[in-house]
Order: sequence, then structure tokens, then C-alpha cells
Amino acid sequence: MITIKSRREFDRMQVAGACVSEILRTVREAAIPGASLTELDDLARKVLENRNCTPSFLGYHGFPAVLCLSVNDVVVHGIPDDYQLREGDILAVDAGAIFEGFHGDAAFTMGIGEISADATRLIDVTNEAMWAAVRITQPGTRLGDIGSTIEKIGLDAGYGVVRDYVGHGIGRQMHEEPQVPNYGTPGKGMKLRTGMAICIEPQFTVGAEDTTVDDDGWTVRTADGSLAAHWEHTVALTKDGTMVFTAGEEALSVDLVDRSSNE
Ligand code: MG
Repeated sequence: MITIKSRREFDRMQVAGACVSEILRTVREAAIPGASLTELDDLARKVLENRNCTPSFLGYHGFPAVLCLSVNDVVVHGIPDDYQLREGDILAVDAGAIFEGFHGDAAFTMGIGEISADATRLIDVTNEAMWAAVRITQPGTRLGDIGSTIEKIGLDAGYGVVRDYVGHGIGRQMHEEPQVPNYGTPGKGMKLRTGMAICIEPQFTVGAEDTTVDDDGWTVRTADGSLAAHWEHTVALTKDGTMVFTAGEEALSVDLVDRSSNE
């Protein structure tokens, strides 16, 4: 179901989004060579407690952790374990928080210590694709406009554009309608309107777009073992314009997106 949010509901999503933003900042600072994934998950748990939020992912269809932590060839949904990060790894951090019944959801990908030029470019181009899609998100934008914007940037860079996992509407549920694919045809698909909120979350790979799931039922990897990157923001179409709820303490107006396109 597509839900239309009131101002009061958006206010709650903004609080949830600010919590997610703090989690991501905290994890970014702590994700150094030698840090374990479970340590990072514990840090996220503390931020949630301090902000009176609860985790979106823990217990979701049985997911066992607060964060999804996806290293190297893991695209999404990596489960934090005792793995200790190594210089040269890339790490995607995905966090969700609930405040008074409403969700925020965001992700970023970073290098651990020094990483290769190829890995840096993958991370940067995936981030750029997310922001390019955010920038065009407003009432009247069609899902095909968002998907095609992301897809073009990925394909032009020579990357696999993952199709098995997509963005989504968000509100009282973490995953609501509509699905927001990272591919599409300009001018096609549902039109967005004021009161909607969506998660825009491109996933690009250095190799092919195909993915596989580990025996744990969660960990999604590139089928060819190539590196993958994932970025995500919660984007709301409010009466005051498009706001990125997960972009910082004060939700970022999309008019200011260019200033923060590297965050
Ligand atoms: Mg999401």
C-alpha cells in the first residue's frame, strides 16, 4: 500500500532519520582496520538507545542484528559477525531506526584505510547516482525517471546495476509500496506526490549485476565475486519541498543537495 504521510508523521520520520544519520556517522568513525563487525553493531545499538529509537532491522523476518554490514563482494544484508575489518576492504553500512512508529533507513559505503582506485571510483559513482536521483525527486517525478537516472550513471561507468534488490516506500513500515527500482524508462511508472516518502538505494558492482544469497538466507553477494557498493537515503516529498531525512540532524532540503553530495 502507498501511504500518504501527514506533517506530524513526517516529523517522526525526521527524528528517526536523524538517528540513522548519527548511527552512520558513528560507525564511519569506528570502522578502522581491526574493528570487528559486531563492535560496530554494538555502537549502533547504543545510539538507538540514546535517542529513544528502536532498530528497524533487528527481528525483521528474523534478521539477527541492528545493522546490515556488507564487506567487499557482499552487496546488501550482510550479518555482523566477528570478522575484523582489513586495510583495503570496502564496507557498506545500512541502518534503520523507528521513532514513535515511523522508520528511517539509509546506507553508505566506505573504504577501510587505503583502498584501490577502482574501489574508490565504485563508491563515488554509486553515491553520485543516489544524489542524482534524489535531486530530481519531487511531485510529478515518475519512478522510471528515478530508475533510469541511476541506471544510466551506473552503465555509463561500466558497472553492473543490481536489479534483484530495489528501493521502496517507507513510513509506518520499513518497506512499503511503491518499489523503487534502480532501472527504468524515463517518463514511465508511477508519479510521486506530496506526502510520499521513498528510499532511493542504488547498488552497483564492478562486474556483472547478478547476485547470489548465502546459506544464512541473508548475505547477498555478487555472483562473480566482484566488489559492490550501496548508498541509500530516506527522501520525503513534504509540503515544503523534498527533504532528505537521513542526511543529518536537520533534514536536508533537496535545494541544498549539491553542497552535501559527498556525504
Ligand atoms: Mg532500504
